[in-house]
Amino acid sequence: MNPKITRFLAEQTPATPCLVVDVDQVEARYRALGKALPLARIYYAVKANPAMPILTRLVGLGSCFDAASWEEVSLCLEAGAHPEDISFGNTVKKVSAIQAAYRAGVRMFVFDCREELEKIAQHAPGSRVYCRLLVDNYDAEWPLSRKFGTTVESARDLMLEARALGLDPYGLSFHVGSQQLSAEAYEAAIARVASLFTDLSDAGLDLRMINLGGGFPIRYREDVPEIDHFAGAICRAMTEHFGNALPEMLVEPGRFIVGEAGVVHTEVVLVSARGRQDGPRWVYLDIGRFGGLAETEGESIRYAIRTARDGSPTGPVALAGPTCDGADILYEKSHYDLPLDLRSGEQIDLLGTGAYVSTYCSTRFNGFAPLSEYYI
Ligand SMILES: *Cc1c(COP(=O)(O)O)cnc(C)c1O
Repeated sequence: MNPKITRFLAEQTPATPCLVVDVDQVEARYRALGKALPLARIYYAVKANPAMPILTRLVGLGSCFDAASWEEVSLCLEAGAHPEDISFGNTVKKVSAIQAAYRAGVRMFVFDCREELEKIAQHAPGSRVYCRLLVDNYDAEWPLSRKFGTTVESARDLMLEARALGLDPYGLSFHVGSQQLSAEAYEAAIARVASLFTDLSDAGLDLRMINLGGGFPIRYREDVPEIDHFAGAICRAMTEHFGNALPEMLVEPGRFIVGEAGVVHTEVVLVSARGRQDGPRWVYLDIGRFGGLAETEGESIRYAIRTARDGSPTGPVALAGPTCDGADILYEKSHYDLPLDLRSGEQIDLLGTGAYVSTYCSTRFNGFAPLSEYYI
């Protein structure tokens, strides 16, 4: 548990549920990634946590930004980012969003199909474009694979088409899936991108950039490989495939930058045996699937939990949120144990909740207020 957040909670006793994020820890993670991958430019994936104190801190550190919507582009601008440091990194963009971003000076856009490419050519003429490839999301705990990216063959045609449409065919991207535990996923994706670089070069088109996406994992209940492990694998693969002619490298971390810096402070609303002596106790919290913990879907992301009674005897529990919706269950199969004397009214902390929580809140489902947030 982060000592700065512990102190804040003890001194301020904020109402629950709330998210507390240590912005200094965000900075430390940004610096650690920069140190591990000095040749890569960091485009923070805004969707992981778009809070202004995070964006302004990152602007101050010289970060670039990966924005998924016009609203995220304008948040970055409001935080002081230069438009040329913003990549519009969603393959699915409204025409009005492309137009607004272009008017604001954004000149880098992603696509993964012909129609999107044509939209960009028409509404953001002359911009740098990169094509997203479909890659394996195997070993990712929060995969993104099937929804985005195209095949190597179609990417080849589309990059040539981009040039014909008067755009600047800048490079290629992929995303190996979020909370990716295997460095091999990056190596395999780099090999795929490199073969297309060569292919296109033979066709007279020299690309200049490879966008390695995000996916770098953080610690939840278990240790994960250090960032240096991923950086080493990436550097080896880049050197193997590109030799001395390294293209520009971009990374788009989200979870890695903000995840471990956040704690959700929550109250136990009810502990219930549900009439059974043999089953787990059910522990209902004042935050659930609809209050921001959307990544518990499928029990994919399993947060570590701290209680004031840690160290006392524990027993198995199922964890659920406070709403009247049957889908509002956090963990039933993931073998959570909590203290046997845990009672309603007590407060517990969910660690590693800085990413993909604050903006995954529904607005007032069942009347519950959206999560309050503190950036310290
Ligand atoms: C969500 C997303 C990211 C961030 O992924 P993390 O796994 O949080 O690092 C980066 N790039 C794109 C295109 C994304 O959609």
